[in-house]
Amino acid sequence: MADERFFLPGPTEVRAEVLDAMRHPMIPHRSAAMELLMRTIHARLQPLFGTARPVYVVTGSASYGMEMAVRCGSVRRVLALVCGAFGERFAEIAELTGREVTRVIAEPGEAISAEQVRLALEHGAYDTVTMVHSETSTGVLSDVAGIAAAVRESSNAMLLVDAVTSVGAMPFQMDAWGVDLVVTGSQKALALPPGLAFVAASERLFNRARALPDRGFALDLVQYDDFWHKAQSPTTPSLSLLFALDRQLADIELEGLDSRFRRHAQMARATWDWVEVDGGADLRLEILARDGERSPTVTAIVCDHPEWVVRTLSEQGYVIGSGHGALSRTTLRIGHMGDHTVEGLEALLDVMGRVIRSRRT
Ligand SMILES: *Cc1c(COP(=O)(O)O)cnc(C)c1O
Repeated sequence: MADERFFLPGPTEVRAEVLDAMRHPMIPHRSAAMELLMRTIHARLQPLFGTARPVYVVTGSASYGMEMAVRCGSVRRVLALVCGAFGERFAEIAELTGREVTRVIAEPGEAISAEQVRLALEHGAYDTVTMVHSETSTGVLSDVAGIAAAVRESSNAMLLVDAVTSVGAMPFQMDAWGVDLVVTGSQKALALPPGLAFVAASERLFNRARALPDRGFALDLVQYDDFWHKAQSPTTPSLSLLFALDRQLADIELEGLDSRFRRHAQMARATWDWVEVDGGADLRLEILARDGERSPTVTAIVCDHPEWVVRTLSEQGYVIGSGHGALSRTTLRIGHMGDHTVEGLEALLDVMGRVIRSRRT
C-alpha cells in the first residue's frame, strides 16, 4: 500500500479503491440488484469464519454484534472470560441485558487457559461463555479451539467469541472448533470503514435464539436469519458500506486467505523482533503479551512516556494507538493488520525508534 502511515489498531487504514467503491449510486434495498450483491458477499464471508452457516451483515459497529450475541445467544448465567477491555465489554453487555455474570479475570498481558475455563465450569452452572480471541487492548491471543473443546466437554454452555481483530487476519474455524457464535467488525482486520458488524451462529445457538423472549427488534438474530435467506437485510442496510465490502472481499479473495494470514504473521514477527532486538536493552521496550500468546494483528508495547511517543509520531504524520484505558500510562499499541505491508510497517518502526531515541539522548 502506498505511503502507509495509519497504524491505529482500529479503525485501520482503508485503501483508496475501497473508499472509491462507496461512490456507487444507491440501489433499492428490496431488489434483484441487492440480492445479487448480498449473495456474493455472503459466499465470500463464510471462508473467513470457517463456517458453512450464514454470516449476517449487521448495520452498526462491532459492539452491536456483541449485543446481538448476548441478547439472542445467552439465557441467564454467563461466564465471562476477561483478558482486557473488550472481554470486560462483553461482560458489561451481559449485565446490562439482565444476565447474571461471573468473570474469570486475567492479569493484563495474560491469557485464560482452557484448564481455567474447565475449572470455572465445574464450579458453577452457566448457559453461556463469552471470550475475546484477540484482545485489542493488550495484544493477547487466546486459544479459542482449546477453550471451545473445554466448554463442550464440561458443560452444555454455548461459546460466544469476539473475533473482531482476528477474523480476516488469521485462521478461524468456527465449525471445526465448535464455536456457537462469532462476531467481527468492519474496521479492523477487514480494513473497511467502521459501521458493519458480522455475526455467524451455530444451528444450536440459532435454535436457542428462536425460543428466547425479549430479543428486541434491531438486533434480532432470527430476523437477520429470515432475511439472510432472501439475500436481504431486515432494515435499510448501509448500502455504501456494502459496496466497499463487496470490493474488499473480492480483493481478499484475490490475495488468497493463506497469503493474507502469512502477511499478518510476518508483520507481527517484524514488530516483535524490532521490540526485542532494537527496542529491548537500548530503548527499554517490552511486549506486554507473553511469547506464544501474542496476537498477529496488534501489539501492546510497554515503554516510557507512551503518550509523548504517540504525540511525537503524530507530529511526523504517523498514527499509532495509545494504551487502552488504564494501560495508557504504560503502553502504546501498534495495529499491524488489514492491508498493511511488512515494508510499510518497518518504515514506521524505523521512525519510532528514532523518536524514542531522541527523547533518551
Ligand atoms: C474494536 C473492538 C471492539 C468494538 O468495536 P466497535 O466497532 O467500536 O463497537 C470489540 N472487540 C474488540 C476485540 C475490538 O478490537
